[in-house]
Amino acid sequence: MTAIGNRRLKPSTLMMGHGFDPTLSKGALKPPIFLTSTFVFESAAEGTRHFEGVTGRRPGGAEGLVYTRFNGPNQEILEDRLGVREDAEDALSFASGMSAIATLLLTFCQPGDMIVHSGPLHAATETLIARILGRLGIGWLDFPAGASEDEIATMLEAAQARGRAARDRLLGERAPPIAIDNTFLGPLWQQPLAHGADLSVCSLTKYAGGHSDLVAGAVVGSAALIREIRIMRNTLGTITDPHTAWMLLRSLETLQLRMERAGANAAHVCAFLRDHPRVEHVGYLGFLAPASRQADIFTRHCSGAGSTFSLCLKGGEAEAFRFLDSLVIAKLAVSLGGTETLASAPAAMTHLSVPEARKAALGITPNLVGISIGVEDPDDLVTDFAQALDSV
Ligand SMILES: *Cc1c(COP(=O)(O)O)cnc(C)c1O
Repeated sequence: MTAIGNRRLKPSTLMMGHGFDPTLSKGALKPPIFLTSTFVFESAAEGTRHFEGVTGRRPGGAEGLVYTRFNGPNQEILEDRLGVREDAEDALSFASGMSAIATLLLTFCQPGDMIVHSGPLHAATETLIARILGRLGIGWLDFPAGASEDEIATMLEAAQARGRAARDRLLGERAPPIAIDNTFLGPLWQQPLAHGADLSVCSLTKYAGGHSDLVAGAVVGSAALIREIRIMRNTLGTITDPHTAWMLLRSLETLQLRMERAGANAAHVCAFLRDHPRVEHVGYLGFLAPASRQADIFTRHCSGAGSTFSLCLKGGEAEAFRFLDSLVIAKLAVSLGGTETLASAPAAMTHLSVPEARKAALGITPNLVGISIGVEDPDDLVTDFAQALDSV
């Protein structure tokens, strides 16, 4: 049930029951965890029909459950709920954000193709594209995030002159699908499908899981594109496992509560940090220069500034490290979107192996601290950041 009369129910309501029928599980209020690797067919003919669906020989996918590398009850309920916030026709769950991205790229890219992407992407995605898919004869072109449409078009023209990617593959009728990594703002604060993206991919490890206790990923989009990715996922086995899918069902029930609280906390903390004498700059979406191009995109595309931001301290690595080592509530760890506040030094940690020139071009300086705000008491967090800044 997704509506009462002509009132469409909101995602925060649907997260409690959508996609699960208790009568199929002995009346259990919550779905049991289906720890089984395979499912029993009622007849040989039914088994054949299911395999016709699984292999793509018959459109529409399997009508029943076959084998846990293809799907299972927990994953199917999860996928029903993952599609809700973006109003997507279909959704797939994956064992990690990276396995979602890898399966998506392997589905659509062939030797001679070119992946055009904004930079920087998540570090592992850049490695996958440049080092792994590059080995398979798939090229790439990255444009700086924030580039205008004209700048991107100029880069594409130049790349086509020397690249193998045919003009009609990039600009013509068979234009390639557009996929957005929505991990930092999804699914609450940004819905890329509503703005023309074909696929929205995200690491469920972050906000969706939300408790830093699981690793998973998702892709949502049109039924036609998801069908192609599903066939690749069936082959590779990159689906999430039943237990993780069940954990995510629990997480999604509180997703909006957690994200709203974390977003409000981040606004409170950033307002304090912004004017602090030891702070050079706060890279927070809520502080974009009014009337700038980025602010225009932000107001049209996003409903919140998120809870992940960067903090540049006056000084260099020594100041950043003293700040990090003095934090009491915030834990020193990489990742984001959990209930607890995390802080790290990207230049010395996640981006350690990125060449110095590229780090400089991306603004990943030694005095930069990456922060993900959790759902703690906001004034406790301000107290912690204040004492850590005093220790610098
Ligand atoms: C974490 C992250 C990923 C990778 O997700 P995993 O679940 O760690 O595999 C991809 N993109 C972004 C933006 C991320 O933050």
